[in-house]
Amino acid sequence: MSRAYNFCAGPATLPEQVLLQARDEMLDWRGTGMSVMEMSHRSDEFVEIAETAEQDVRDLAGISDDYAVLFMQGGASSQFATVPLNLLGNSASADYVNTGIWSEKAIAEARRYGDVNVVASSAGCGFTTVPDQTGWKTRADAAYLHYTPNETIGGLEFDFVPDSGKVPLVADMSSSMLSCPVDVSKFGLIYAGAQKNIGPSGLVVVIVRKDLLGKAHVKIPTMMNYQVMADNASMFNTPATYSWYLTGLVFKWLKDQGGVSAIGELNARKAKKLYHFIDTNPLYSNPIDPRFRSRMNVPFILADEALNSAFLKGADERQLLNLKGHRSVGGMRASIYNAMPEAGVDALIFYMAEFAKERG
Ligand code: PMP
Repeated sequence: MSRAYNFCAGPATLPEQVLLQARDEMLDWRGTGMSVMEMSHRSDEFVEIAETAEQDVRDLAGISDDYAVLFMQGGASSQFATVPLNLLGNSASADYVNTGIWSEKAIAEARRYGDVNVVASSAGCGFTTVPDQTGWKTRADAAYLHYTPNETIGGLEFDFVPDSGKVPLVADMSSSMLSCPVDVSKFGLIYAGAQKNIGPSGLVVVIVRKDLLGKAHVKIPTMMNYQVMADNASMFNTPATYSWYLTGLVFKWLKDQGGVSAIGELNARKAKKLYHFIDTNPLYSNPIDPRFRSRMNVPFILADEALNSAFLKGADERQLLNLKGHRSVGGMRASIYNAMPEAGVDALIFYMAEFAKERG
């Protein structure tokens, strides 16, 4: 078996130990004679798997009982509608920060349900920085303030948690959840599509403060109602059982790595060395304000675009996969989530240096 280093932005590389365990348990989960995939979601076995995963993410992220943890479906994109449908209540207006393509998508969807106020935007500079919070035009009567702590495509990451005062703070943490310590108590709601730091695609983890439940729009689809999900332990219908199980294995793995502080240090080190290399080699560059460079998604461009395909071909030959940047921005992007070992980043830097020497 030869495992590649997969730099895909998502679905992304998973810890090898998790995949090996899933393989070992595939046909017979702990003597039950069946795969988790084949189990009733109401069975004692699966309920144990589900509850353990919830407890583990509570332990990892320090989530108190004031919050419900939901395992929903439809990916992070369905949350772009689910959030306003649940939280707008009577106020009908919400504040959004626009720092990139994922913010824009969240804004466009929320506009279908209410009055969206874009409090600040870095579109003018091509989303290369985070607008200073002192200039944000927030409204005290907004139902919530939404932002995207890590813009997966642009490679832009907040280095602070915005102060939203009494207005609940909502974060799309799809590409940063569990990558470093975060004070959950500052948030009204956090959601994250699983396929980067958490598990397989389709599943979305939602952490919602319980006092925000029960305000959903009367016509909200039942499956989108956080209150219904919370009352039914995310099993109002048949949940994505196998994804939930695999996510649980990832949480256990993360605990074994020393939790989010330890992985946060490793992530900072991985990102630092890659940016340092990019900044010091004339063939490569990254356009993002250094203060707000993403630790998870590292975009870079080659000084000569004509070298792009040779770069990608050479990378593929060395099993350094999925380095092509998002079609909307071009260039390259290395996604280096929790499960990307430091050795993968070292191998990438080694190749980039070698390529620059030969072709640069
Ligand atoms: N938000 C962010 C920040 C993302 O990176 C992504 C996926 N790349 C999404 C939302 C959409 O996630 P999904 O494909 O699970 O709907």
